[in-house]
Amino acid sequence: MKTVYLDNAATTKIAPEVLETMMPFLTENYGNPSSFHSFGSSQMEAVEIARGQVARLLGAKSEEIYFTSGGTESDNHALRGAVKMDSSRRGIVISAVEHPAVLDTARSLAKEGYPLGIAEVDTNGELDSDSLQQLVSTETAIVSIMAANNETGVVMPLKESAEIAHRSGALFHTDAVQMVGKEPIDVHSMGIDILSLSAHKLHGPKGVGAIYIKKGIQLPPVLTGGHQEKGFRSGTYNTPGIAGLGKAAELALTHLDDTAVKERALRESFEKKIVDSCPGSFIVSEKAAHRLPGTVTIIFRGIESEAVLTLLDMQGVYASSGSACSTGSKNSSHVLTAMGVDFNLSNSALRFSLSRYTTQEELDHTVKLLESIVERLRRISPYAE
Ligand code: PLP
Repeated sequence: MKTVYLDNAATTKIAPEVLETMMPFLTENYGNPSSFHSFGSSQMEAVEIARGQVARLLGAKSEEIYFTSGGTESDNHALRGAVKMDSSRRGIVISAVEHPAVLDTARSLAKEGYPLGIAEVDTNGELDSDSLQQLVSTETAIVSIMAANNETGVVMPLKESAEIAHRSGALFHTDAVQMVGKEPIDVHSMGIDILSLSAHKLHGPKGVGAIYIKKGIQLPPVLTGGHQEKGFRSGTYNTPGIAGLGKAAELALTHLDDTAVKERALRESFEKKIVDSCPGSFIVSEKAAHRLPGTVTIIFRGIESEAVLTLLDMQGVYASSGSACSTGSKNSSHVLTAMGVDFNLSNSALRFSLSRYTTQEELDHTVKLLESIVERLRRISPYAE
């Protein structure tokens, strides 16, 4: 059966060049970069090459990049570190549509007594900057606004949010896990103090990521131990993963412009074909000023997204829903809820996310399947306009 992978916002396939870069470190070059002997210490060169590759993708300096286990750790480090820096600044301000790596970390810190403010988004999923402005004060330690949303693909106003944070003397962090490698980022000109990224979203390996911290910001460590990464992030270097992340970053930078143009064109025609061929379907955040090139959530009015996903899965097409199933109970997407989408509609939401490997043929095949699946499900459950 032909398979079509359209869940690249969840994870991506490893690029062949990335795997090739990693292989020596998974086989013969297994030394520990922190060792005294040359067999291990020579591996540090690979770590430093990767640091430079990641820095170039972000417009940062090498010494501003620290390796972590992924987006979740980087987000935790940003928030948990920032609130410990200055006892007179304990507040955290985030948006309502952050990924749980930020949202749940902020909520957990709120339970420990750190004041939390949550800025609203509008019906397009775009940040309400006035709401952000009202929440930030001279007691705010950190403002954390994601670069692009993982469900809607909506790109947030980073420069403006950083300016709001800085006017009150707060740090500005962005969870750029979905944006890095998809859209250009220049940390310095965008005013970003701290940024999180993850390798597996850009055709790198799972379990490795990085955090950018602007030079001069003394974020305390969260993981203590063997003093790796100048004592900032302890833990034995994941050399294969780091080398893979570096290569993935280099490739992302090489392909950045072409990929964005190609993915945007593919996504736009995909959206149009679905809306035209599946009655009752519409694009979430369609009116947002700026969306990622390759991520779209579509609502199929009156149809359970799980039914569509299951039928697509049976035909070898992999996408995801806008709602999360936990311990058997169905939770509506907090992102769609924050945008004012009602419970029933949000349970009809499907996310399709493309990559630089996605083809027109794969998308056309998916549209055809969707058309017949939606038609079949409509017969069982006709929607009310
Ligand atoms: N932040 C965003 C926006 C994400 O989409 C994800 C992963 O889905 C994460 C953070 C977590 O990253 P990781 O899987 O590397 O821990």
